[in-house]
Amino acid sequence: MKGLMQDVPLTLQMLLERAERIYADKHIATKTAQGVRRRSYGEVVGRVARLANVLRDLGIGRGDRVATFAWNSDRHLELYLAAPCMGAVLHTLNPRLHPDQVRWIADHAEDRVVFYDASLEPALAAVGDFKTVRHLVRMNDLDDDSTAALDAAADYETLLEEADGAYPWPRLAEGDAAAMCYTSGTTGHPKGVVYSHRSSVLHAMASLFSDSLGIRERDVCLPIVPQFHANAWGTPYASLMTGANLAMPGRFMADPPSVAALTAAEKVTVSAAVPTVWFGVLQAIRSGQIDAASLQSLERIVCGGSAVPEALMRGYDELGIRIVHAWGMTETSPLGTVATVKSTIAEADVLRTRLTQGLPAPSLTLRLETERGDVAPWDGETMGELQITGPWIADAYYDPDAPDLRGGLDRFTEDEQGRRWLKTGDVAVIDSHGYVKLVDRTKDLVKSGGEWISTLELENLLLAHPKITEAAVIAVPHQKWDERPLACVVRADDGLDRDEVLSYLGEHVAKWQIPDDVVFVDEVPKTSVGKFDKKVLRDRYADYELPT
Ligand code: AMP
Repeated sequence: MKGLMQDVPLTLQMLLERAERIYADKHIATKTAQGVRRRSYGEVVGRVARLANVLRDLGIGRGDRVATFAWNSDRHLELYLAAPCMGAVLHTLNPRLHPDQVRWIADHAEDRVVFYDASLEPALAAVGDFKTVRHLVRMNDLDDDSTAALDAAADYETLLEEADGAYPWPRLAEGDAAAMCYTSGTTGHPKGVVYSHRSSVLHAMASLFSDSLGIRERDVCLPIVPQFHANAWGTPYASLMTGANLAMPGRFMADPPSVAALTAAEKVTVSAAVPTVWFGVLQAIRSGQIDAASLQSLERIVCGGSAVPEALMRGYDELGIRIVHAWGMTETSPLGTVATVKSTIAEADVLRTRLTQGLPAPSLTLRLETERGDVAPWDGETMGELQITGPWIADAYYDPDAPDLRGGLDRFTEDEQGRRWLKTGDVAVIDSHGYVKLVDRTKDLVKSGGEWISTLELENLLLAHPKITEAAVIAVPHQKWDERPLACVVRADDGLDRDEVLSYLGEHVAKWQIPDDVVFVDEVPKTSVGKFDKKVLRDRYADYELPT
């Protein structure tokens, strides 16, 4: 027997309608050079209709990719709504990547238009020619009277002013693509994750549960995690859905005094960012650069992207601000697990529990696969690769050359019931309560301040150097950045020194991706099958003091 309930497609248009009807008087505030720009959601919805007309006039149709190259702002939020709601696909490009990587990603996604912040114009200019991009639109976040330096770039506000204020939103299917985001691949090129309307709506709903991020109407949410990182962890959509005010840091994203000033001015109650950001804010408080009182309204901080260290959690506990530790991936939209504390956890275990990556969000299912291919018991001891399934978990990566565009299938597996599991590349234990604790990573990557650095890419570059015979790059623990890369190099020529290696790499990768140091070794340790054994190197250099 079939249920007799309405089959309403879950699309982001619901958020637009709700913001207009119910939360028109709530607002989004964006930090600018002049102060704070506030726009009501009612005003935003009107601008979103104009923006949809602009997109249509630029020739954007159903399924076309609309790229952004921008910081967190009200305009970026308008793009978050206009592109998916008109049936196009939002594609957030990461301006921190090397220009060659940005170009590769935009070409792969076949972006048609790029909306960029004026402060990022030099970075965009460095990217050079895109294959499929037909238009550039400049959003003047410098808030001055400067004009575009890039040829033929249109001005965002001028286009909006000239556009019609009404847009006939089309009927969309919930399975339609809404947004794309690329993540660093462990092997080969970055991988494109394609979110659907349905996955985005369900993910936003799940962020509202009080036992997950608990975002509610009374909150003022400050996403410091960039909108180009898994949609700022879904916080903009979640805030709109529940009518929470938003505060956006604009181009002042990782600057502790700006974060503190915006928090105080907007009475921010919940914020989200990687540990490196919170570490910086704590340091700034301790050094007297900012006053702890400016964070008085802040009730909780959603923190993930890398593990929250105990000292960080204790530091904020002392300030009366609760860190909510969460784990996720671009592929998981990203909300995967949240470390809320069950009522059955003994008082003595509360801190330890909050430091785990947490419990799976409702409707997600986890399992651990051991090296032998068995499913590991949840005993808090048996390690295995974390696998995850659920309605906002990727089912494949985007591959324009593959049948049905579904690629990267080796990262997924199917069980006897036909359920698809994402192999996360994270190694974990799960205790009998269901709390996940990450213990290792099979992905050969370095995560520095929330951004990935591909060791494989660095190694390939090193091995192409005529004076190098072997090279392995490993992650070394770092207090501020969580991890930093260290290059272990076997040289063919004794004349090769550290500076030559690093300046050579600097010609090919972004500055922050260059290893902090180089150690010259006699040989790179090998496994029994002759592969580089980085575990041996990681153990050897676990306490390595990187130059400051
Ligand atoms: P990304 O796709 O860039 O968001 O990176 C996802 C990866 O970041 C995960 O697979 C983990 O390796 C790591 N990660 C995310 N959250 C945490 C966390 N809370 N603790 C430890 N590692 C994390």
